[in-house]
This record gives sequence, structure tokens and C-alpha cells, in this order.
Amino acid sequence: MCWKKNLSRFFRTVKFRTALWYALLFSVSGLLLFFSVYFILESGMIKAVDKQLFALSRELEDGYFKAAPADKIKALENGYRREAHYQGTNRIFYRLRDNDGKVLSESGGKSWERLAKNTSYRNAVVLGKAVTAPVYSRSSVRLLERPLTEGRILETGIDLSTEEDLLKIYSSVFFIVFAVLLAVSAAIGWLLAGRAMKGVDTVSEAVSAISHGDFSRQVAVTNVGTEIENLAAAFNEMRGRIESLIFELREVSDNIAHDLRTPLTRIRGMVETTVRGNPEVADYDVMAGGIVEECDRLIGMINTMLEITRTGSGAVELNFAAVDMKQLVSQAHELFQPLAEMKEIAFSVSLPETPVMVSGDRARLQRVIANLVDNAIKYTPDKGRVDLTLAICNGRVVMTVTDSGIGIQEKDLSHIFERFYRCDASRTQAGNGLGLSLVDALVKAHKGVIAVSSRIGEGTTFTVTFPPLV
Ligand code: ADP
Repeated sequence: MCWKKNLSRFFRTVKFRTALWYALLFSVSGLLLFFSVYFILESGMIKAVDKQLFALSRELEDGYFKAAPADKIKALENGYRREAHYQGTNRIFYRLRDNDGKVLSESGGKSWERLAKNTSYRNAVVLGKAVTAPVYSRSSVRLLERPLTEGRILETGIDLSTEEDLLKIYSSVFFIVFAVLLAVSAAIGWLLAGRAMKGVDTVSEAVSAISHGDFSRQVAVTNVGTEIENLAAAFNEMRGRIESLIFELREVSDNIAHDLRTPLTRIRGMVETTVRGNPEVADYDVMAGGIVEECDRLIGMINTMLEITRTGSGAVELNFAAVDMKQLVSQAHELFQPLAEMKEIAFSVSLPETPVMVSGDRARLQRVIANLVDNAIKYTPDKGRVDLTLAICNGRVVMTVTDSGIGIQEKDLSHIFERFYRCDASRTQAGNGLGLSLVDALVKAHKGVIAVSSRIGEGTTFTVTFPPLV
């Protein structure tokens, strides 16, 4: 049973199929070549033989006609003898028949004797036309019958065994060479397919290793053809992407676990301290308030996570409409002014004179601005500066939020838009590392671009660019 399965698997391999195709293709083209050459050779030989046959018949007829009536048969015999002297008695022959089919004279020779035994060819004979007649199962002669005087018929013939031998040699040589080349072509097909499939085998080995959890496997495939190399490159890229996704996923789940544990521990702590003391009704009120606050924080975090995922995957429906960014930025400036004042931060805004229209979801755009301004104020020490600007540059709507805050290290810049990423310097501040991730998803959903530049200790600038309303 097992060997049957292995055999059927072997028959289904690309290697075997390619070798088979090579062999098949070679066989068909080889056979076509063989039959065309055979046909050309055979018809060329018959043409040459017919030429000789007509010459022989003419020669014999000449002698016959020129001779006196009594010497005619003699002249025929002499003419044959002369010709047979050069060509051989086995090669050419003749027979003279009278009106009733009675043989008046004939030459000897093997083929002729055999032909005499076989009369079936006679039906095909047409006077003055050469025909081929089989004399034996595997050999034949070329025959010509021409009328003489007094209803007599002269048959002349040429034995075709020399030509047939030549064709036999050609066939044998061809089939020996054909068999060798067939084996070689199948072997070449096998090797070529094997070479091409080697790369695929390497990729499948790596895939199987990865499916068992070994993400370190890189497929190193060189000099096996561009297609396989491209496959290997695409595979390596995919492997890298999966590896980093898994890493991200682990990190995100760690972060979620951590961020859920903290408020839950706080809730537990609150309940424990309240219950262990001699709680009054007022203590229960405080505890309930604390729990509600923590729960709100948790729900907020979960909602933000869901919104990031939904916005990123396009599952959330944005209410697109014509929105004046100038109005939104100005409102955000007013809204955050008291917060800035609490930290004695100089909070400025620079707006163009005319409205700046974009196509977007008003509430989500407000969230983008609010998150960036909130971060700027949060990560800027007291008495610092935060500048909010809106302008139209090269036909695009550009908003910047610049602060003179703690700044972001070079190594962190590429990560701050990732979920739950928080720079070390900001761990003392409240936050969960989801704000910028949501901002990034929302900006992208509006076909915009967000960029950041920062110098540690000097400040940070976030630049958001949106396409204008058309
Ligand atoms: P968080 O809730 O921690 O503020 P965010 O996603 O909004 O989360 O920001 C991610 C991290 O990027 C922050 O923890 C902080 O380290 C850094 N960051 C964001 N904005 C600023 C800024 N204006 N100045 C310095 N660091 C910033």
C-alpha cells in the first residue's frame, strides 16, 4: 500500500512529468522527422529506379524493333544479356508474352522466379506505367509493361532489394540514435526539472520548518533561475513580516495584559482596603467612585484599541463631509488654552485668513488635533511653548503641532505610532501608548500623512498633511 502511494506520488512529481514531456515531445518530433526523411528517400529512389527501368525497356525494345521478324526474340535476349552484364541478372529481368499471355522468352534471376509465383500484382499493372510489385513478404520489384508488335507485351523489371536494404539500414541507424537521444532527452528533462525544483524544495523545507515554529529559517537560493529566486525573496520577505507581526502581537498582548492588570490591581486594592477597615457608607461611595473611574479608563482603552483596529482595516464607517480645518484648529486652541495656562505654557496658534476645507469626518479630525495638542502640552515642562499652525503648502493642507518639550530619542521615532509604545522618558506621565496609534490610523483613513521630527531636550514637531477638498 505504501509503495503504491509512493509510486503515485512519484508519477505526480514535476520532475517525472517534465522528463515525460521531454521524452514525448522528442518522440513525436523524432518520428515526424523519421517518416518525412523516409518518404523523401523512398520516393527519390523510386524515381531513380523508374528512370533506369524506362531506359532498360527502351534499350530492349530498340533491339527488338530493329531485328528481322525471325530474330526478334534473339535480339531481345542479346539486349538483356548486355544490360545484365553491367547490372547483374538478379537486379534486372524481362519477360515477353504473346497475345494469349503465353511466355515467349524470359530472363532468369531470383526475383523473377519469385514474381512468377505471385500474380496478384497483375491487377495493378497499367501498360506504360511503372508499378511496384511484392515478390516476397519483405522484398519487391519495380515493373513496367509495354506493348510490342503483334499484341506481344514486354515486361521489364528492376529488383528493389538494394534500395530496400538502404532504407532498412537508415531505419535501424535512425532508431538506435533515436533511442539514445530519447533517453538523453528524458534525462535532460529530469535534470533540468530537478534543478528548477531544488529551489522550490528548499522553500518548502523552510515553510515546513516555519510551520513547526522555526522562524529563523531564511531561504538561500541563488543561481536557480529568476522565478525561483523571486519566490525565495518573496518568501523571505513574508517570513520576516510574519516574524515581526508575531513579535508585535506578543508585545501587544504583553502590553494589554500589563495595562489591564494595573487598573484591576488598583480596583482590587480599593475593595480590599475598604472592606478590611470598618467601612462607613461614605467609604463605600469613595470605593464605588474609584472603581467607576478605573472601569471608565479600561473601557476607554479597549474602545480606543477597537477603533484603531477598525479604522486600520477600513471596517469603521467615517462620515465624510466638507470640513473647515481652520475652525477645528481654532476650537482646539480655545479648548486646550486652560490646560496650557495651568502649566504656564505659551500656547500660540497661526491660521490662514480663509477657511481651509478638507473632506473628512469632523469628530475624528477633532480627535487627531486634540491628541497631538494634548501630547504636546503633556510632554512639555512648565513654562514651555506649544505652537499650532495651519497652512496650505503646494496645494495640500498642512497642520503642525510644535512643542519645546522633552523630545523623542532617534531610536523611538519609528516606534511611537505602534500600539502601546511609550518612550522611557514619558513613563512618569499618564497614558497608555494608544493615542498616536489612533492618530496615525485616522490620518491614513483620510488619505493624509503624518510625520514627526524631534530633538531630545529641545522639542518635537508633528506635521499632518491632508489632501484639499476638490
Ligand atoms: P501616550 O498615551 O503615552 O501619550 P501616545 O501614543 O500618544 O501615547 O504617544 C506614544 C509615545 O510617544 C508617548 O508615550 C511619548 O513617549 C511619545 N510622545 C508622543 N508625543 C510626544 C511629544 N509631543 N513629545 C515627546 N514625546 C512624545
